[in-house]
Amino acid sequence: MQIPYINLGLQHKLIKDEILASIGNVLESGQFILGDELTKFEKSFAELHGVKYALGVANGTDALFLSLKAIGLKEGDEVITAPNSFLASASAVIIAGGKPVFADVREDFNLDPEKVEKGITSKTKAIIAVHLTGRPAPMDELMAIAKKHNLHIIEDGAQAIGATYKNKPVGGFGTTGCFSLHPLKNLAAGGDGGVITTNDDSIYKYLTVARNHGLKNRDECAFWSYNSRLDNMQAALLNVKMKYLAKWTERRRAFAKLYYDQLSDLPMIVPCDKDYEKAVYHTFIIQTEDRNELKEHLARKGVDTKVHYPIPIHYQEAAKGLGYKKGDFPVTEKQAETILSIPIYPELTDEQLEYIIEEIQNFYH
Ligand SMILES: *Cc1c(COP(=O)(O)O)cnc(C)c1O
Repeated sequence: MQIPYINLGLQHKLIKDEILASIGNVLESGQFILGDELTKFEKSFAELHGVKYALGVANGTDALFLSLKAIGLKEGDEVITAPNSFLASASAVIIAGGKPVFADVREDFNLDPEKVEKGITSKTKAIIAVHLTGRPAPMDELMAIAKKHNLHIIEDGAQAIGATYKNKPVGGFGTTGCFSLHPLKNLAAGGDGGVITTNDDSIYKYLTVARNHGLKNRDECAFWSYNSRLDNMQAALLNVKMKYLAKWTERRRAFAKLYYDQLSDLPMIVPCDKDYEKAVYHTFIIQTEDRNELKEHLARKGVDTKVHYPIPIHYQEAAKGLGYKKGDFPVTEKQAETILSIPIYPELTDEQLEYIIEEIQNFYH
């Protein structure tokens, strides 16, 4: 059996007629920028995350970057973020003029609040709370730290659309929540896309202008800014997918539970929801000392796996100037050698899932 790590074509095959009809309407309407489909999408995205506002932008990185601009990040300001995330959780800080400061994570891949607090200096302006793998970061602890030190929280929910923490959706805790609609994410555009959520009226007002050249209206520019909008055509596609998202998420969660039930007695760490959270399993990452051998075994058996991410951000060539070295973030560094992402997309069949589980069990027996 051949099981690819992800199958983006398959998802679209199942709902192709609906998507084509929706995109066709946009083509005929001639409304390509900031149109009705986008407004509709933003409204349903805001509802899903229990926030006042959602704003479509060009991608998840821009969502982070524009959020940092919105909180007034200045040259030299520090932002605490996770070294094990996708690199955009750090690069957005740099391109916004700030300095990323890393704090190590815990076994569940999310920021360790104690390490975050240790990283705070007089220059710290914000914490980027990454909900990595689709599991909510420890928001009670992080919010308390932010409050105590008068910092903003920017949520990086790129992998966590629809996840909840103590029954409250992510994206509504921080000053803003940032989401990616990249084709590999749980809610995927047919290309790049992103969303910013917020409950703050003035931040929202700033962002509506900031994503659109600084234009207050058609002709008047209030400040120099960027062109970072979500296309109406992408929104038309996403509006179709929004109807299926809850179902897809439930399948991811059901697969995660099955993986946990079948694999947790093997010599590996297997993710599992805490009772107060609902993770959306963008990835399902096991941790094992035999990672490379297991990856090879699965590849031989036709099961494709990935590593998210093999090179921590502080090891990247681009990060040289930040002055970190090996040993600075032991949990992240150890995990980079033991993590393995196994397939978890909603289109997997029961048969495929059983095969993956069986082959992992075979490896150990
Ligand atoms: C994907 C991702 C981003 C960046 O989103 P893009 O839409 O690709 O720009 C940022 N942070 C995390 C955690 C991500 O997974």
